[in-house]
Amino acid sequence: MENIQENLVKITERIRKAELANGRTENSVKLMAVSKFHSAEEIISTVGAGQLLFGENRVQEAGEKFPDIIKEYSQVQLHMIGVLQTNKVKNAVKIASCIQSVDSLNLLQEIEKQCTKIEKNINILFELHTGEESKSGFLTEEDLIEAIEFCRNGNCPHIVPSGFMTMAPFTNNEVLIHKSFIKARETKEKMQKLYPEFRFNELSMGMSGDFEIAIEEGSSLVRVGTAIFGERIYS
Ligand SMILES: *Cc1c(COP(=O)(O)O)cnc(C)c1O
Repeated sequence: MENIQENLVKITERIRKAELANGRTENSVKLMAVSKFHSAEEIISTVGAGQLLFGENRVQEAGEKFPDIIKEYSQVQLHMIGVLQTNKVKNAVKIASCIQSVDSLNLLQEIEKQCTKIEKNINILFELHTGEESKSGFLTEEDLIEAIEFCRNGNCPHIVPSGFMTMAPFTNNEVLIHKSFIKARETKEKMQKLYPEFRFNELSMGMSGDFEIAIEEGSSLVRVGTAIFGERIYS
């Protein structure tokens, strides 16, 4: 537990350093603690250290941990960051303030439908496929544009499109990691120009192994799991 709080301090320092080194505004990069496979107790220990933004991959696991935590600590926010099946959307929108992993028009429509039922507005990020290895995210610009355009014209009154998310390929080759993040940043800039009615402020990229590169390339939100909580034990 003490380790977790120490790790959090270390990561925060590294983020501030990367901001400074890259001419980014101080405190402009948000830190999400990715708590998948870690217990409510571990999560609460980071809340005690001031961490309020969390990410989870699986709806069921998040649903077991977060409602109680949010009841007790009302400032805690949860984002869903994993592949989301349409039959899980109903529960996802109940507990999350943002769905970062929107990768199809179909999913977008289901999110709108479920948010309408519970009269809740939700932020979403469009997930971009930017690296060879990753399987998730919009593959073509055509599909991305179709989804963004669906959000116009009052189709999605409960959805607030807030930006983009991506995962770099899992590799030691920094050139490939840069390339992936650059592609995401350029897509964000292009879509912002095409659709000025939206505020695509968020660019969610960077994990434990590559968040400094992501900050260099313009990330506004890094998603860090292992470097805060330690290795995940998949059981
Ligand atoms: C698990 C996960 C992370 C965190 O990964 P670490 O390498 O443990 O920091 C970030 N983003 C997504 C989408 C993830 O699934």
